[in-house]
Amino acid sequence: MAPIVSVENLTHAFGKGALRKSVLMNVELALYPGEVVILEGPSGSGKTTLLTLIGALRSVQQGSLKILGQELHGARKQQLMKTRNQIGFIFQAHNLLACLTSQENVSTSLKLHKHIPKREYRPRSEEILKAVGLGDHIDAYPKNLSGGQKQRVAIARALVSRPKLLLADEPTSSLDSKTGRNVVEIMQRLARDEGCAVLLVTHDNRILDIADRILHMEDGRIGS
Ligand code: ADP
Ligand code: MG
Repeated sequence: MAPIVSVENLTHAFGKGALRKSVLMNVELALYPGEVVILEGPSGSGKTTLLTLIGALRSVQQGSLKILGQELHGARKQQLMKTRNQIGFIFQAHNLLACLTSQENVSTSLKLHKHIPKREYRPRSEEILKAVGLGDHIDAYPKNLSGGQKQRVAIARALVSRPKLLLADEPTSSLDSKTGRNVVEIMQRLARDEGCAVLLVTHDNRILDIADRILHMEDGRIGS
């Protein structure tokens, strides 16, 4: 089975000259369809940097990074954008658009997929919002939602297009334990049913058991 993500010898640094700081050192990682992998490790160890590289949100400096068959090292902007559109992202901050309802926020990610007809936006968005327990808040604006509800809208937005790769950075940190559990179980189901690979950064030891593998990151290196 071909990996969805293949990272080889990936090295990354921030800053220049005397201020240059190595953040990732020779990282190796492969993610396969249908697996849920948790990445944990101390703050500052490079987890978010790795996730944003895999998500085509920053340029590769050194090493190889293949996402859904596409090499990102040296890839053009257009290609990075294309890869990015095929990935579901969930960040710590939910980044919802304040002027859009839950349903409209979720629909924004369907608009990136030209083959999905407009008339499907609402039913698809409603279905996934119900699945994350927001059936009563489909037309609500973010200002009328709690922190946990906003995070669930963000999760619905990442899942609605059924991506082959889901990247989540501390997605349960603002959720109570029951909601957090629900949310990761939805991700797990997506992985099982759709052959999606899920990479989940978390400190939340209440959800470690949903992982097929747990990777430990320290000082820019992955051990296990
Ligand atoms: P983690 O997610 O594991 O907490 P990060 O990947 O956010 O770690 O950060 C790793 C290191 O890189 C930290 O020392 C952080 O200060 C530094 N860093 C992260 N982003 C930047 C940036 N944009 N510019 C400079 N340094 C950064
Ligand atoms: Mg981080």
